[in-house]
Amino acid sequence: MMALRKGPKKGPKKGLKKGLKKELVLIGAGHAHAFVLEAFARTPEPGVSLTVISESRLAAYSGSVPAWLAGQCRLRETQIDVAGLCRRAGARLVEQRAVHVNALERCITLENGERLSFDLACINVGATLRQPPQQGSEALPFLLAMRPLAALAPRWQTLCTQVDKLPRESVQRVVSVGGGAAGSETLLAVLAALRARRPDVGFVGQLLSADGALLPGAGTLPRTLLRRALRRAGVRVQTDVRGEALGGGVLTRQGECIAADIVLWATGAVGHDWLAKSDLALDQRGFIKVAPTLEARGQRGIFAAGDCAAFTPALPKAGVYAVRMGPQLAANLRRACRHEPLASWQPPRRVLSLIGTGDGRAIASYGALGASGKWLWRAKKRIDARFISRFNPPFDRI
Ligand SMILES: Cc1cc2nc3c(=O)[nH]c(=O)nc-3n(C[C@H](O)[C@H](O)[C@H](O)COP(=O)(O)OP(=O)(O)OC[C@H]3O[C@@H](n4cnc5c(N)ncnc54)[C@H](O)[C@@H]3O)c2cc1C
Repeated sequence: MMALRKGPKKGPKKGLKKGLKKELVLIGAGHAHAFVLEAFARTPEPGVSLTVISESRLAAYSGSVPAWLAGQCRLRETQIDVAGLCRRAGARLVEQRAVHVNALERCITLENGERLSFDLACINVGATLRQPPQQGSEALPFLLAMRPLAALAPRWQTLCTQVDKLPRESVQRVVSVGGGAAGSETLLAVLAALRARRPDVGFVGQLLSADGALLPGAGTLPRTLLRRALRRAGVRVQTDVRGEALGGGVLTRQGECIAADIVLWATGAVGHDWLAKSDLALDQRGFIKVAPTLEARGQRGIFAAGDCAAFTPALPKAGVYAVRMGPQLAANLRRACRHEPLASWQPPRRVLSLIGTGDGRAIASYGALGASGKWLWRAKKRIDARFISRFNPPFDRI
Protein backbone atom coordinates (compact mmCIF):
# COMPACT_ATOMS: atom_id res chain seq x y z
CA MET A 1 0.00 0.00 0.00
CA MET A 2 1.02 3.62 -0.54
CA ALA A 3 2.76 5.13 2.45
CA LEU A 4 1.70 8.72 3.13
CA ARG A 5 3.50 9.97 6.17
CA LYS A 6 4.34 13.16 8.01
CA GLY A 7 7.28 13.94 10.25
CA PRO A 8 10.81 12.65 10.64
CA LYS A 9 12.48 10.82 7.80
CA LYS A 10 12.76 7.06 8.01
CA GLY A 11 15.73 5.01 6.79
CA PRO A 12 16.16 3.84 3.22
CA LYS A 13 13.39 1.62 1.94
CA LYS A 14 14.33 -2.09 1.96
CA GLY A 15 13.58 -4.35 -1.03
CA LEU A 16 9.97 -4.87 -2.06
CA LYS A 17 8.11 -7.51 -0.09
CA LYS A 18 6.56 -10.26 -2.19
CA GLY A 19 2.89 -9.68 -2.95
CA LEU A 20 3.04 -5.90 -2.31
CA LYS A 21 2.05 -3.60 -5.14
CA LYS A 22 4.76 -1.58 -6.81
CA GLU A 23 4.32 2.17 -6.24
CA LEU A 24 4.66 4.23 -9.42
CA VAL A 25 4.39 7.96 -8.72
CA LEU A 26 4.02 10.54 -11.51
CA ILE A 27 5.09 14.03 -10.42
CA GLY A 28 3.38 16.78 -12.45
CA ALA A 29 0.61 16.34 -14.98
CA GLY A 30 2.58 17.47 -18.01
CA HIS A 31 1.92 16.35 -21.56
CA ALA A 32 4.08 13.20 -21.37
CA HIS A 33 2.23 12.03 -18.27
CA ALA A 34 -1.11 12.52 -20.02
CA PHE A 35 0.04 9.83 -22.46
CA VAL A 36 1.21 7.59 -19.61
CA LEU A 37 -2.20 7.86 -17.94
CA GLU A 38 -3.95 7.22 -21.24
CA ALA A 39 -1.80 4.10 -21.82
CA PHE A 40 -2.40 2.77 -18.30
CA ALA A 41 -6.14 3.44 -18.64
CA ARG A 42 -6.19 1.43 -21.86
CA THR A 43 -4.07 -1.43 -20.49
CA PRO A 44 -3.76 -1.47 -16.70
CA GLU A 45 -0.48 -2.84 -15.36
CA PRO A 46 -1.12 -5.64 -12.84
CA GLY A 47 0.69 -5.29 -9.53
CA VAL A 48 1.25 -1.55 -9.97
CA SER A 49 -0.37 1.17 -7.90
CA LEU A 50 -0.36 4.51 -9.71
CA THR A 51 -0.33 7.93 -8.02
CA VAL A 52 -0.25 11.37 -9.68
CA ILE A 53 0.98 14.46 -7.84
CA SER A 54 -0.44 17.52 -9.56
CA GLU A 55 -0.80 21.13 -8.48
CA SER A 56 -4.25 21.18 -9.96
CA ARG A 57 -7.08 19.02 -11.33
CA LEU A 58 -6.73 20.81 -14.67
CA ALA A 59 -3.42 21.19 -16.53
CA ALA A 60 -2.77 24.12 -18.87
CA TYR A 61 -2.07 23.42 -22.55
CA SER A 62 0.06 26.20 -24.03
CA GLY A 63 -0.73 25.51 -27.69
CA SER A 64 -4.26 26.90 -27.25
CA VAL A 65 -3.21 30.01 -25.29
CA PRO A 66 -3.17 32.38 -28.33
CA ALA A 67 -6.65 31.20 -29.42
CA TRP A 68 -7.94 31.69 -25.87
CA LEU A 69 -6.40 35.19 -25.63
CA ALA A 70 -8.07 36.01 -28.93
CA GLY A 71 -11.40 34.95 -27.43
CA GLN A 72 -11.71 32.10 -29.93
CA CYS A 73 -12.05 29.39 -27.30
CA ARG A 74 -12.93 29.13 -23.63
CA LEU A 75 -10.25 28.74 -20.96
CA ARG A 76 -11.59 25.27 -20.17
CA GLU A 77 -10.84 24.27 -23.76
CA THR A 78 -7.13 24.94 -23.11
CA GLN A 79 -6.94 22.60 -20.13
CA ILE A 80 -6.41 18.86 -19.75
CA ASP A 81 -8.74 17.19 -17.26
CA VAL A 82 -6.14 15.53 -15.05
CA ALA A 83 -8.70 14.28 -12.53
CA GLY A 84 -10.67 12.55 -15.30
CA LEU A 85 -7.52 10.96 -16.74
CA CYS A 86 -6.56 9.68 -13.27
CA ARG A 87 -10.03 8.20 -12.79
CA ARG A 88 -9.84 6.30 -16.05
CA ALA A 89 -6.31 5.06 -15.29
CA GLY A 90 -7.28 3.96 -11.77
CA ALA A 91 -4.68 6.39 -10.40
CA ARG A 92 -4.87 8.24 -7.12
CA LEU A 93 -4.64 12.02 -7.59
CA VAL A 94 -2.78 13.94 -4.91
CA GLU A 95 -3.54 17.63 -5.46
CA GLN A 96 -0.33 19.13 -4.15
CA ARG A 97 2.98 20.56 -5.28
CA ALA A 98 6.00 18.30 -4.97
CA VAL A 99 8.89 20.17 -3.31
CA HIS A 100 11.58 17.52 -2.96
CA VAL A 101 12.61 14.11 -4.25
CA ASN A 102 14.88 11.96 -2.13
CA ALA A 103 16.25 9.38 -4.53
CA LEU A 104 18.09 7.42 -1.84
CA GLU A 105 15.15 7.10 0.52
CA ARG A 106 12.71 6.78 -2.41
CA CYS A 107 10.34 9.42 -1.15
CA ILE A 108 8.78 12.66 -2.37
CA THR A 109 7.97 15.57 -0.06
CA LEU A 110 4.84 17.60 -0.77
CA GLU A 111 4.27 21.29 -0.06
CA ASN A 112 2.04 20.43 2.93
CA GLY A 113 4.90 18.45 4.52
CA GLU A 114 3.52 15.00 3.74
CA ARG A 115 5.83 12.44 2.21
CA LEU A 116 5.04 9.80 -0.39
CA SER A 117 7.21 6.73 -0.85
CA PHE A 118 7.77 5.23 -4.28
CA ASP A 119 9.43 2.33 -6.04
CA LEU A 120 9.42 4.10 -9.40
CA ALA A 121 8.89 7.80 -10.04
CA CYS A 122 8.67 10.02 -13.08
CA ILE A 123 8.95 13.82 -13.17
CA ASN A 124 7.10 15.88 -15.82
CA VAL A 125 6.77 19.30 -14.19
CA GLY A 126 7.68 21.51 -17.15
CA ALA A 127 9.90 24.57 -16.87
CA THR A 128 9.67 27.96 -15.25
CA LEU A 129 11.30 31.34 -15.88
CA ARG A 130 13.19 33.84 -13.79
CA GLN A 131 10.67 36.48 -12.80
CA PRO A 132 12.08 39.97 -13.37
CA PRO A 133 13.42 41.67 -10.24
CA GLN A 134 11.81 45.02 -9.46
CA GLN A 135 13.99 48.10 -9.02
CA GLY A 136 13.46 51.70 -8.03
CA SER A 137 10.38 53.43 -6.67
CA GLU A 138 8.68 54.39 -9.94
CA ALA A 139 5.32 52.81 -10.81
CA LEU A 140 5.87 49.37 -12.29
CA PRO A 141 4.33 48.27 -15.57
CA PHE A 142 1.68 45.54 -15.46
CA LEU A 143 3.49 42.20 -15.67
CA LEU A 144 2.13 39.24 -17.61
CA ALA A 145 4.64 36.40 -17.10
CA MET A 146 4.36 33.46 -19.47
CA ARG A 147 5.23 30.83 -16.87
CA PRO A 148 3.76 29.28 -14.86
CA LEU A 149 0.97 29.08 -17.42
CA ALA A 150 -1.65 28.39 -14.75
CA ALA A 151 -1.10 31.92 -13.39
CA LEU A 152 -1.68 33.53 -16.79
CA ALA A 153 -5.51 33.35 -16.75
CA PRO A 154 -6.08 35.39 -13.54
CA ARG A 155 -3.43 37.96 -14.59
CA TRP A 156 -5.07 38.33 -17.99
CA GLN A 157 -8.47 38.88 -16.37
CA THR A 158 -6.96 41.58 -14.12
CA LEU A 159 -5.32 43.25 -17.12
CA CYS A 160 -8.59 43.22 -19.09
CA THR A 161 -10.39 44.84 -16.14
CA GLN A 162 -7.73 47.57 -15.95
CA VAL A 163 -7.83 48.11 -19.71
CA ASP A 164 -11.62 48.52 -19.56
CA LYS A 165 -11.09 51.50 -17.23
CA LEU A 166 -8.54 53.33 -19.41
CA PRO A 167 -9.54 56.80 -20.58
CA ARG A 168 -10.48 57.18 -24.24
CA GLU A 169 -7.67 58.09 -26.66
CA SER A 170 -4.99 57.04 -24.15
CA VAL A 171 -1.89 55.12 -25.22
CA GLN A 172 -0.52 51.88 -23.77
CA ARG A 173 2.98 50.65 -24.54
CA VAL A 174 3.06 46.84 -24.62
CA VAL A 175 6.58 45.40 -24.47
CA SER A 176 7.38 41.71 -24.82
CA VAL A 177 10.70 40.53 -23.41
CA GLY A 178 11.81 37.37 -25.23
CA GLY A 179 12.25 36.80 -28.94
CA GLY A 180 11.24 33.13 -29.00
CA ALA A 181 7.98 31.71 -30.32
CA ALA A 182 6.14 32.22 -27.00
CA GLY A 183 7.13 35.91 -26.62
CA SER A 184 6.33 36.83 -30.23
CA GLU A 185 3.13 34.82 -30.54
CA THR A 186 1.72 36.01 -27.24
CA LEU A 187 2.55 39.66 -27.99
CA LEU A 188 0.69 39.45 -31.31
CA ALA A 189 -2.28 37.73 -29.65
CA VAL A 190 -2.39 40.22 -26.75
CA LEU A 191 -2.16 43.24 -29.07
CA ALA A 192 -4.96 41.91 -31.28
CA ALA A 193 -7.16 41.09 -28.28
CA LEU A 194 -6.62 44.46 -26.55
CA ARG A 195 -7.10 46.45 -29.76
CA ALA A 196 -10.38 44.62 -30.38
CA ARG A 197 -11.45 45.24 -26.77
CA ARG A 198 -10.63 48.95 -26.75
CA PRO A 199 -10.48 50.33 -30.30
CA ASP A 200 -10.43 53.85 -28.78
CA VAL A 201 -7.08 53.21 -27.01
CA GLY A 202 -3.73 53.12 -28.83
CA PHE A 203 -1.73 49.95 -28.07
CA VAL A 204 1.88 50.27 -29.23
CA GLY A 205 3.89 47.05 -29.43
CA GLN A 206 7.61 46.47 -28.93
CA LEU A 207 9.59 43.23 -28.81
CA LEU A 208 13.00 42.84 -27.16
CA SER A 209 15.19 39.88 -27.99
CA ALA A 210 18.45 39.14 -26.19
CA ASP A 211 19.63 37.25 -29.27
CA GLY A 212 20.59 38.75 -32.60
CA ALA A 213 17.60 37.10 -34.29
CA LEU A 214 14.04 36.05 -33.46
CA LEU A 215 12.99 32.40 -33.18
CA PRO A 216 16.33 30.86 -32.16
CA GLY A 217 16.93 27.61 -34.04
CA ALA A 218 14.39 28.33 -36.79
CA GLY A 219 15.20 28.81 -40.49
CA THR A 220 15.53 32.13 -42.30
CA LEU A 221 12.12 31.91 -44.00
CA PRO A 222 10.01 31.42 -40.82
CA ARG A 223 11.99 34.26 -39.20
CA THR A 224 11.31 36.55 -42.13
CA LEU A 225 7.61 35.68 -42.04
CA LEU A 226 7.50 36.46 -38.33
CA ARG A 227 9.28 39.79 -38.84
CA ARG A 228 6.69 40.63 -41.49
CA ALA A 229 3.79 39.72 -39.20
CA LEU A 230 5.25 41.86 -36.40
CA ARG A 231 5.68 44.78 -38.79
CA ARG A 232 2.05 44.42 -39.96
CA ALA A 233 0.97 44.60 -36.31
CA GLY A 234 3.06 47.76 -35.85
CA VAL A 235 5.53 46.07 -33.49
CA ARG A 236 9.00 47.56 -33.19
CA VAL A 237 11.61 44.79 -32.86
CA GLN A 238 14.90 45.32 -31.06
CA THR A 239 17.43 42.50 -31.12
CA ASP A 240 20.55 42.14 -28.93
CA VAL A 241 18.69 43.86 -26.09
CA ARG A 242 18.34 41.87 -22.87
CA GLY A 243 15.54 42.91 -20.54
CA GLU A 244 16.65 42.22 -17.00
CA ALA A 245 14.35 43.95 -14.53
CA LEU A 246 11.30 46.15 -14.13
CA GLY A 247 11.53 49.75 -12.99
CA GLY A 248 9.59 52.62 -14.59
CA GLY A 249 9.62 50.34 -17.66
CA VAL A 250 11.86 47.47 -18.77
CA LEU A 251 15.43 47.90 -17.56
CA THR A 252 17.95 46.41 -19.95
CA ARG A 253 21.43 45.01 -19.40
CA GLN A 254 22.70 47.91 -21.52
CA GLY A 255 21.42 50.28 -18.81
CA GLU A 256 18.46 51.61 -20.77
CA CYS A 257 14.91 51.99 -19.43
CA ILE A 258 12.38 51.13 -22.13
CA ALA A 259 9.05 52.78 -21.40
CA ALA A 260 6.28 50.26 -20.87
CA ASP A 261 2.78 50.07 -19.40
CA ILE A 262 2.27 46.36 -19.98
CA VAL A 263 5.16 43.86 -20.03
CA LEU A 264 4.98 40.31 -21.33
CA TRP A 265 7.82 38.31 -19.78
CA ALA A 266 8.78 35.33 -21.94
CA THR A 267 12.48 34.84 -21.26
CA GLY A 268 14.21 31.46 -21.56
CA ALA A 269 13.00 28.39 -19.70
CA VAL A 270 14.81 27.29 -16.54
CA GLY A 271 14.27 24.36 -14.17
CA HIS A 272 12.16 24.60 -11.01
CA ASP A 273 14.19 25.63 -7.92
CA TRP A 274 13.16 22.59 -5.89
CA LEU A 275 14.80 20.21 -8.38
CA ALA A 276 18.19 21.69 -7.43
CA LYS A 277 17.57 20.73 -3.80
CA SER A 278 16.77 17.11 -4.76
CA ASP A 279 19.60 14.65 -5.31
CA LEU A 280 19.25 14.53 -9.07
CA ALA A 281 21.92 15.36 -11.65
CA LEU A 282 20.96 18.64 -13.36
CA ASP A 283 22.30 20.54 -16.36
CA GLN A 284 23.36 24.21 -16.20
CA ARG A 285 19.79 25.49 -16.57
CA GLY A 286 18.49 23.26 -13.79
CA PHE A 287 16.92 20.48 -15.89
CA ILE A 288 17.23 16.79 -14.98
CA LYS A 289 19.86 14.99 -17.04
CA VAL A 290 18.31 11.92 -18.64
CA ALA A 291 19.62 8.94 -20.62
CA PRO A 292 18.02 8.14 -24.00
CA THR A 293 15.66 5.83 -22.07
CA LEU A 294 14.36 8.95 -20.21
CA GLU A 295 15.73 7.52 -16.95
CA ALA A 296 17.49 10.16 -14.84
CA ARG A 297 21.28 9.87 -15.06
CA GLY A 298 22.63 7.84 -12.15
CA GLN A 299 19.17 7.21 -10.64
CA ARG A 300 17.62 3.85 -11.45
CA GLY A 301 13.86 3.88 -11.39
CA ILE A 302 13.50 7.68 -11.58
CA PHE A 303 12.47 9.09 -14.94
CA ALA A 304 11.97 12.60 -16.31
CA ALA A 305 10.25 13.84 -19.46
CA GLY A 306 9.20 17.01 -21.24
CA ASP A 307 10.72 20.42 -20.57
CA CYS A 308 12.17 19.41 -17.17
CA ALA A 309 14.34 16.70 -18.79
CA ALA A 310 17.78 17.56 -20.21
CA PHE A 311 18.34 15.28 -23.16
CA THR A 312 21.68 14.92 -24.96
CA PRO A 313 21.95 16.65 -27.39
CA ALA A 314 19.76 19.39 -25.89
CA LEU A 315 16.25 19.71 -27.32
CA PRO A 316 14.26 22.93 -27.65
CA LYS A 317 11.79 23.42 -24.78
CA ALA A 318 8.63 22.82 -26.76
CA GLY A 319 5.50 20.88 -25.91
CA VAL A 320 5.80 18.84 -29.06
CA TYR A 321 8.82 16.99 -27.60
CA ALA A 322 6.97 16.23 -24.37
CA VAL A 323 4.14 14.87 -26.51
CA ARG A 324 6.47 12.70 -28.59
CA MET A 325 8.16 11.34 -25.46
CA GLY A 326 4.80 10.33 -23.94
CA PRO A 327 4.15 6.92 -25.55
CA GLN A 328 7.81 5.83 -25.18
CA LEU A 329 7.81 6.95 -21.57
CA ALA A 330 4.65 4.91 -20.88
CA ALA A 331 6.27 1.83 -22.44
CA ASN A 332 9.49 2.28 -20.46
CA LEU A 333 7.66 2.79 -17.17
CA ARG A 334 5.85 -0.48 -17.85
CA ARG A 335 9.16 -2.18 -18.66
CA ALA A 336 10.70 -0.81 -15.46
CA CYS A 337 7.74 -2.17 -13.45
CA ARG A 338 8.38 -5.59 -14.97
CA HIS A 339 12.20 -5.39 -14.61
CA GLU A 340 12.55 -5.60 -18.39
CA PRO A 341 15.28 -3.77 -20.35
CA LEU A 342 14.38 -0.19 -21.28
CA ALA A 343 14.20 1.08 -24.86
CA SER A 344 15.80 4.30 -26.12
CA TRP A 345 13.71 7.23 -27.33
CA GLN A 346 14.75 8.80 -30.61
CA PRO A 347 13.85 12.50 -30.83
CA PRO A 348 12.48 13.65 -34.19
CA ARG A 349 15.09 15.47 -36.30
CA ARG A 350 12.80 18.41 -36.79
CA VAL A 351 9.30 19.27 -35.70
CA LEU A 352 6.55 21.46 -37.07
CA SER A 353 5.70 24.58 -35.11
CA LEU A 354 2.70 26.72 -35.85
CA ILE A 355 2.85 30.29 -34.56
CA GLY A 356 -0.34 32.34 -34.48
CA THR A 357 0.09 35.94 -35.62
CA GLY A 358 -3.02 37.46 -34.06
CA ASP A 359 -4.58 38.37 -37.42
CA GLY A 360 -6.34 35.08 -38.15
CA ARG A 361 -3.17 33.67 -39.71
CA ALA A 362 -0.32 31.45 -38.53
CA ILE A 363 3.26 30.80 -39.58
CA ALA A 364 4.46 27.23 -40.07
CA SER A 365 8.11 26.58 -39.28
CA TYR A 366 9.68 23.26 -40.19
CA GLY A 367 13.48 23.34 -40.36
CA ALA A 368 14.39 25.81 -43.10
CA LEU A 369 10.85 25.68 -44.52
CA GLY A 370 8.22 28.23 -43.68
CA ALA A 371 4.74 29.27 -44.81
CA SER A 372 2.06 31.61 -43.61
CA GLY A 373 -1.69 31.80 -44.08
CA LYS A 374 -5.19 31.67 -42.68
CA TRP A 375 -5.43 27.95 -43.39
CA LEU A 376 -2.46 27.39 -41.05
CA TRP A 377 -4.26 29.17 -38.19
CA ARG A 378 -7.31 26.98 -38.84
CA ALA A 379 -5.03 23.90 -38.90
CA LYS A 380 -3.36 24.94 -35.64
CA LYS A 381 -6.70 25.36 -33.90
CA ARG A 382 -7.86 21.97 -35.23
CA ILE A 383 -4.66 20.20 -34.09
CA ASP A 384 -4.81 21.78 -30.63
CA ALA A 385 -8.52 21.02 -30.19
CA ARG A 386 -7.90 17.41 -31.22
CA PHE A 387 -5.05 17.14 -28.71
CA ILE A 388 -7.19 18.46 -25.86
CA SER A 389 -10.23 16.33 -26.73
CA ARG A 390 -8.04 13.21 -26.85
CA PHE A 391 -7.59 13.55 -23.09
CA ASN A 392 -10.96 15.16 -22.30
CA PRO A 393 -13.69 12.89 -23.66
CA PRO A 394 -17.04 14.75 -23.81
CA PHE A 395 -18.47 12.83 -20.82
CA ASP A 396 -15.69 14.26 -18.67
CA ARG A 397 -16.23 17.88 -19.69
CA ILE A 398 -17.01 20.30 -16.90
C1 LIG B 1 2.82 31.17 -24.07
C2 LIG B 1 3.44 29.89 -24.51
C3 LIG B 1 3.06 29.30 -25.72
C4 LIG B 1 3.64 28.11 -26.12
N1 LIG B 1 3.22 27.55 -27.31
C5 LIG B 1 3.74 26.37 -27.70
C6 LIG B 1 3.32 25.75 -28.92
O1 LIG B 1 2.47 26.27 -29.65
N2 LIG B 1 3.89 24.55 -29.28
C7 LIG B 1 4.83 23.95 -28.49
O2 LIG B 1 5.32 22.87 -28.84
N3 LIG B 1 5.26 24.51 -27.34
C8 LIG B 1 4.74 25.69 -26.92
N4 LIG B 1 5.17 26.26 -25.75
C9 LIG B 1 6.12 25.51 -24.90
C10 LIG B 1 5.31 24.50 -24.09
O3 LIG B 1 4.39 25.17 -23.25
C11 LIG B 1 6.16 23.63 -23.17
O4 LIG B 1 7.28 23.18 -23.89
C12 LIG B 1 5.34 22.43 -22.71
O5 LIG B 1 4.22 22.84 -21.96
C13 LIG B 1 6.19 21.48 -21.89
O6 LIG B 1 5.38 20.39 -21.57
P1 LIG B 1 5.69 19.55 -20.28
O7 LIG B 1 4.84 18.33 -20.39
O8 LIG B 1 7.14 19.34 -20.10
O9 LIG B 1 5.24 20.45 -19.03
P2 LIG B 1 4.00 21.37 -18.78
O10 LIG B 1 3.04 21.38 -19.91
O11 LIG B 1 4.54 22.68 -18.33
O12 LIG B 1 3.28 20.63 -17.57
C14 LIG B 1 3.88 20.54 -16.30
C15 LIG B 1 2.79 20.30 -15.29
O13 LIG B 1 3.40 20.07 -14.02
C16 LIG B 1 2.77 20.85 -13.03
N5 LIG B 1 3.75 21.12 -11.98
C17 LIG B 1 4.77 22.00 -12.03
N6 LIG B 1 5.47 21.96 -10.88
C18 LIG B 1 4.88 21.02 -10.11
C19 LIG B 1 5.15 20.52 -8.81
N7 LIG B 1 6.17 20.98 -8.09
N8 LIG B 1 4.34 19.57 -8.30
C20 LIG B 1 3.29 19.10 -9.02
N9 LIG B 1 2.98 19.54 -10.26
C21 LIG B 1 3.77 20.48 -10.80
C22 LIG B 1 2.28 22.09 -13.74
O14 LIG B 1 1.18 22.65 -13.05
C23 LIG B 1 1.88 21.50 -15.10
O15 LIG B 1 0.54 21.05 -15.09
C24 LIG B 1 4.62 27.47 -25.32
C25 LIG B 1 5.00 28.05 -24.11
C26 LIG B 1 4.42 29.24 -23.70
C27 LIG B 1 4.86 29.85 -22.39
